[in-house]
Amino acid sequence: MSETCPVCGLPREICVCEAIAKEQQIIRVYVERRKWNRDVTVIEGISGKDLDLREIAGKLKTACACGGTAKNGRIELQGDHRNKVKEFLTELGFSPDNISVE
Ligand SMILES: [Zn+2]
Repeated sequence: MSETCPVCGLPREICVCEAIAKEQQIIRVYVERRKWNRDVTVIEGISGKDLDLREIAGKLKTACACGGTAKNGRIELQGDHRNKVKEFLTELGFSPDNISVE
């Protein structure tokens, strides 16, 4: 049983919608300071409609070996991972030109 893409109707294996969507995301990465001086890396701009934010958050958490969440169109990672996040997002297929790190 093969899953089909709701956008183009092709089987997932040959669909490129996700790849195209990834290249089009304009992503902003910055650090927010929370209570108790805890730093949180926020990744904003990835569309939850086009892409699976939870899946991306899961991969980033593994890559950075940290905790984190995906909610309201944002991914939050515990700690300051700005220097790694851009590299990993690029590896996942996002365009480095569209990722701004503050
Ligand atoms: Zn598709």
